[in-house]
Amino acid sequence: MHTDFEKRYARTPVRRPSEKILNGMRDASRDLARRLQQRPGRLPGLSVFETMFTTEQRLAELRASDRRVAGTYCYFVPEELLRAFDVTPVRLCSGFTETIAPSEEVLPRDICPLVKSSFGSAVVGGGYLDECDVIILPTSCDAKTKLGEYLADYKPVWLLNLPSTKDYAIVKPFWVQEIKRLKTKLENWTGRKLDRKKLKDAIGLFQKRSKVYRELYELRRAHPGVISHQDWLMAIQASFYADVPTWIAQAENLVQEIRKAVVRPVPDLKVKLLLTGAPVIWPNYKILNIIDELGAAVVADEMCSGHQRLWDYAEPDEWTTDGMLEALASRYLFPATCPCFTGTCDRVDKLLKMAEDFNVDGVIYHDLRLCQLFDMERDLVSRVLKERKMPMLTLHTDYGQEDVEQLKTRVEAFLEIIR
Ligand code: SF4
Ligand code: SF4
Repeated sequence: MHTDFEKRYARTPVRRPSEKILNGMRDASRDLARRLQQRPGRLPGLSVFETMFTTEQRLAELRASDRRVAGTYCYFVPEELLRAFDVTPVRLCSGFTETIAPSEEVLPRDICPLVKSSFGSAVVGGGYLDECDVIILPTSCDAKTKLGEYLADYKPVWLLNLPSTKDYAIVKPFWVQEIKRLKTKLENWTGRKLDRKKLKDAIGLFQKRSKVYRELYELRRAHPGVISHQDWLMAIQASFYADVPTWIAQAENLVQEIRKAVVRPVPDLKVKLLLTGAPVIWPNYKILNIIDELGAAVVADEMCSGHQRLWDYAEPDEWTTDGMLEALASRYLFPATCPCFTGTCDRVDKLLKMAEDFNVDGVIYHDLRLCQLFDMERDLVSRVLKERKMPMLTLHTDYGQEDVEQLKTRVEAFLEIIR
């Protein structure tokens, strides 16, 4: 098996299997699911997404399937290409607090909690990462890039090299080549040439997924109170693991339920907020829960773990193999607002557009501790929003619960200003 990492100085992987930690993770998922279920008027069609986190059904399906599984991180791995080779992608970015302590036995402490939490799954085992035959890791931020060296002790890791800017003229040849390199690796790994028809079908399927997501998005834009943002993210993040046609069918059912629900007036929201910044990932919905408890509501986000994941789709100009690979290259790079790119104001542009579309009263900036990129980009976002007289609150936090009261006080003060 070819990997991108030399094995000359490989370590014996540290393994700390722990039923206590796995039970803690199950409890965290079930506690959050219970909280979401208790919301008055919650649509029944949301519960199918929840089972992705509260049961091990999908894990069992993956174990029983003869399809290979590829773990992915971030936004940039073209899932359509994997599907064309009958490889199932699962996104491994994690929101569990429980896996952070085990990860610190191997990783340095002072890196972002998302990366530590994600790596901790390799140490503890028993989850999606264990089921992966290969891991495809985009070189996004520093922490994610270096994570590959640690993960390579556990699984074969393929790097997907990202450019540092999105200047089309400069980076297009390089990035298209990188996607073609991934195609070749998949061909060598599976022993099969890329089948043009299978790639076309896969692109068509993912187009369908984005289109149903867009329907949900437009319905929610018109009726923001119809679904909480915790449920919204939960449904999106179910797609990290779900079988794609199953997820589409569940989302189509949700569209029908929302259409029926909005025939009656949907409760008006007093304060509407837009969420940006570092990804919020199941079950670490701490800041959303706090905002909710204080009587305000997040109605939209532009995170890579939320809206950004499902909105865009590949649109080939030509359905030749090259045409489709180029369309995938564009789809998985140019819409990304990840702060690992420099020299672009895309995120600010997107935020301003969404703030207007959802007529929000303010913006919450989720700043994960020890993430330099989001921290450094905050200045630009805050300056531009200030000029537009759009209030913004930065919540600098991590995956722990110790700062809940302090965060509540800050959110409360912010809401008083904008109410
Ligand atoms: S913000 Fe960028 S680096 Fe962080 S998880 Fe998302 S895509 Fe990856
Ligand atoms: S939050 Fe920051 S440090 Fe963590 S994975 Fe995302 S970009 Fe990297």
